[in-house]
Amino acid sequence: MATAAQQLVRMLDELGRVSDEPGKLTRTFLSPSMRRANAQVAQWMRAAGLAVREDAVGSLIGRLEGETPGAKTLLLGSHLDSVRDAGRFDGPLGVLLPIVALGELKRRGVVLPFAIEVLGFSEEEGVRFASAYLGSKGYAGKLRPTDLRFHDAKGVSVHDVLRDFGNGKFSPPAAAHRSRDLLGYIEVHIEQGPVLENKNLAVGVVSAIAGQSRFKLTWIGKAGHAGTTPMALRRDALAAAAEFAMGIEAIARRTKGLVATIGAMTVAPGAANVIPGEVAHTLDVRHADDRVRRRALVAIGRLATQIAARRNVSRAWQRTQENGAVACSPALTAQLARSVKAIQGKSLSLVSGAGHDGVVISELTPVAMLFVRCREGLSHHPDEYASPADLEVALRVIIDFLERLARSSRQPSS
Ligand SMILES: [Zn+2]
Repeated sequence: MATAAQQLVRMLDELGRVSDEPGKLTRTFLSPSMRRANAQVAQWMRAAGLAVREDAVGSLIGRLEGETPGAKTLLLGSHLDSVRDAGRFDGPLGVLLPIVALGELKRRGVVLPFAIEVLGFSEEEGVRFASAYLGSKGYAGKLRPTDLRFHDAKGVSVHDVLRDFGNGKFSPPAAAHRSRDLLGYIEVHIEQGPVLENKNLAVGVVSAIAGQSRFKLTWIGKAGHAGTTPMALRRDALAAAAEFAMGIEAIARRTKGLVATIGAMTVAPGAANVIPGEVAHTLDVRHADDRVRRRALVAIGRLATQIAARRNVSRAWQRTQENGAVACSPALTAQLARSVKAIQGKSLSLVSGAGHDGVVISELTPVAMLFVRCREGLSHHPDEYASPADLEVALRVIIDFLERLARSSRQPSS
């Protein structure tokens, strides 16, 4: 088992060197390094006994047939693309760990009654185009014409790139499977947050992927001389935005599980001796329960109205993103939690604040996710790190999960 975990560490290291940029890890949608990454992972898939193909969107699919012909298929996967100057675990862990798990089962002579597909999605991070999840959307048959119209920095569209990839031909693929032929989708991913480290646990089971709303807010007051305008006569847009920032923090702090963030702000005119006349900023609000998020947004809207009235400033809202929460499958999650408990002694359920391929795949089949502790919760950074010991725990959990699922699907259904 230790050998299998060491093998996983070596594979993560090796794939982490496959990059578009020298000296750092950057692997974007259908770039030359993505082609090399697919070739490398395909080789590992074949060594584990999988039959390999690429779909029209460049996702890598390794398939292992089950004992019984026509048996249902369990999907396991994540994405092979990365952000710029990325770490080597975000994405590849969820592709390589199942390959190593299947290799280990093969070595032990275990044959599963169901089929397995290991998926390496070609795009999840939304780096090259302002559109994320192209890989999983392609696999799930959810690519829409609007997804194909986005352009990269050089003015090349998603459609152009896919047509080149398909040697001059591309049409959005249908779903790779009918839902009724699938058992579900399991994604192993680093946590990208500090909860597991805080609880001193190697792995945890995700209960839901948080829904999120994003806005652009603009506060309009009146610019004026910083020396000559008395405080009582000011309409300071930045003071209003600052009060709003403190207010949303208070709302999030008193609502369990809610996170609210202002991550970018511009102040105009932006001079040391001028009262800010206009402030624009982002707002990102997330919660695992859409009702809680919507209630919080009502409270946040009321807060903005009160601040604007009291300070005699106006404000404008623009919603830039809206995604509902995705609940993980209770059955698959309970099964995964049993394996976590068996291997780790206790299981912890946690919400994913970040989006994952599972969001899209949940439209095709029930999903479950296993989170692996990462040092200081750090991700999207070259220092991203999950320890070999934690990776071994995750590997043992997935092997145990597959064996349990095999046992339960062999039992005759009543
Ligand atoms: Zn990821």
